[in-house]
Amino acid sequence: MSSATHPTGGATGASGATGASGATGASGATGATDATDAAIAVEDASLAHNYHPLPVVVATASGAWVTDVEGRRYLDCLAAYSAVNFGHGNERLVKAARDQLDRVTLTSRAFHNDQLGPFAAALANLLGKEMVLPMNTGAEAVESAIKVARAWGYRVKGVPEGRAKIIVADGNFHGRTTTIISFSSDPEARSDFGPYTPGFVSVPYGDEAVLEAAIDDDTVAVLIEPIQGEAGVVVPPTTYLPFIRRVTTERNVLFIADEIQSGLGRTGSTVACDLVGVVPDLYLLGKALGGGIVPVSAVVGDRAVLGVLRPGEHGSTFGGNPLAAAVGLEVVRMLSSGEFQQRASELGERLRTSLDSLIGHGVVAVRGAGLWAGVDIDPALGTGREVSEGLMRRGVLAKDTHGSTIRLAPPLVVTADELDWAVAQLEAVLADLRG
Ligand code: PLP
Repeated sequence: MSSATHPTGGATGASGATGASGATGASGATGATDATDAAIAVEDASLAHNYHPLPVVVATASGAWVTDVEGRRYLDCLAAYSAVNFGHGNERLVKAARDQLDRVTLTSRAFHNDQLGPFAAALANLLGKEMVLPMNTGAEAVESAIKVARAWGYRVKGVPEGRAKIIVADGNFHGRTTTIISFSSDPEARSDFGPYTPGFVSVPYGDEAVLEAAIDDDTVAVLIEPIQGEAGVVVPPTTYLPFIRRVTTERNVLFIADEIQSGLGRTGSTVACDLVGVVPDLYLLGKALGGGIVPVSAVVGDRAVLGVLRPGEHGSTFGGNPLAAAVGLEVVRMLSSGEFQQRASELGERLRTSLDSLIGHGVVAVRGAGLWAGVDIDPALGTGREVSEGLMRRGVLAKDTHGSTIRLAPPLVVTADELDWAVAQLEAVLADLRG
């Protein structure tokens, strides 16, 4: 596999088989050159250091590929954490954005705009729900759902004021706000950011009995990722989500599925809940909903739940803006044909088969669904960061998570040859590490 040729055409290509810089190796072993170093130095001097990016400086992108400031090309196997599901510079999405840029971009919700209604109707219809609450970032969608669930608990379920409880899962990642990190189990995400918001109980992900036992009369919701992305693409047992649906219905508790990373085609279905035939009360969407162009997120549910919000209780200046709505509407139209879901499903099987062949050869486990894989690297060989850096030097951009896991999530427009080539590069990196 490691001898596979580069899908875009060999050693003269900007990302030839010997590395991102091609046969001339302009970047040497570190991938850095003057232009790269200079750009990184400017960032380092002026930015808060809340990220540890790979040393690559992207200048342009198209489809599944990005090009850095040196002109080197890389296959994007992260897709901005699944925000670029439809590929960089997707023609339909760019056109929708351009057309809307010339019309009106922001009205605030003080007035109506002519894009928001059609977007909300189409999105609700795509998911078989009645209502949409539009926001911007994923974390805002999560925060919004927490408020909705609490208000539903007090106003509909009859939970005594101040007692609402939401059950979450260990290993969760729902965003970075102070309330959300209050129920994170990751010390890096929460240490030194307290005091923490109360009202959350965390249970082991995938454990049905513990979850059921945690529900009491004050429980208003179970908030869960159908597949835990940041935790390393952790797929729960197939009975888990159907169990949550059953027990939450029986106990009059809302089931909130955070599909911000798993949704919108990534797993081979419109939402990951579809894979096991489950319909939650609220879907949380973000990332790909904005087509990789603008931040667009949403809470999607029925009137019986989302209808609890009254004017003045919640909002956002940019939430539901016409530019976001125009792009989001085009995203929904693209998903309506099922073409992207099918592509993710078919290519995902191919990716899974080739990744599985690396088990025992530097890889200890592979998990995933559709075009989304978590690859556990043998810690004896190296860290996930080292593997990501090796991949970068070979023209593949991926990112490590939790020490020794690499997450692969290319744009859904990636081709079969490109996927094979990416896995061949991973095989070569692992061989290099073995020495
Ligand atoms: N929920 C999930 C499942 C996510 O993966 C993320 C981001 O990675 C978020 C919420 C937060 O989204 P954002 O970074 O847009 O706030």
